[in-house]
Amino acid sequence: MSDTVTRLEAIRASVARAARDFGRKPESVTLVAVSKTKPAGQILETLEAGQRVFGENYVQEAKTKWPALKERFPEAELHMVGPLQSNKAREAVALFDVIQSLDRESLAKELAREIARAGKAPRLFVQVNTGEEPQKGGVLPGDADAFLTRCRAVHGLAIEGLMCIPPAEEPPSPHFGLLAKIAARNGLEGLSMGMSADYEAAIQLGATHVRVGSAIFGERG
Ligand SMILES: *Cc1c(COP(=O)(O)O)cnc(C)c1O
Repeated sequence: MSDTVTRLEAIRASVARAARDFGRKPESVTLVAVSKTKPAGQILETLEAGQRVFGENYVQEAKTKWPALKERFPEAELHMVGPLQSNKAREAVALFDVIQSLDRESLAKELAREIARAGKAPRLFVQVNTGEEPQKGGVLPGDADAFLTRCRAVHGLAIEGLMCIPPAEEPPSPHFGLLAKIAARNGLEGLSMGMSADYEAAIQLGATHVRVGSAIFGERG
């Protein structure tokens, strides 16, 4: 077994164990393998080992790797987890099955337009900037309810859940708890939270999707 597949199997087992430890069904947590900056050959190893859900951060990079991989594994599911420029909405709708970084009105409008044009809708998560960090994407927690309402009522978008990336230097659990609270009061099931360092805490607080990159594919250069 390659190192990558060994790490993948360990993370899968650990995600399932965390779910059971916290009284949840293992299948209620989806492992999103974040393969940004990693070569197609390494991704292929994990596809061959049965991994089916992946995350990428850059439209341009995903375009160079994924069409060929999807041809071989049509059931692979690709999530956009990085910041998305409005002028990339068309390519993103064409390429991704799920967009987790919807975070502003202009992008909601572009996505709605491109979904209508393409006749194909990626599933959508709204990113919330739980740490209110100026350099980070995401709607502010205080603006989330109104933004979700506008996504639905003004742009006709179906929203599946919320996503957050807590500040690197803070304990993540309060951020996960806040995201879960915003989701619950808006009737949303999906909670994309938790990365390599903190996916277990996220599972404890209700994550339905954990986004794990370096713990599977190795450190990024
Ligand atoms: C890179 C990235 C991840 C994966 O991070 P790791 O710490 O390598 O697990 C998860 N989510 C987002 C949004 C990312 O950009």
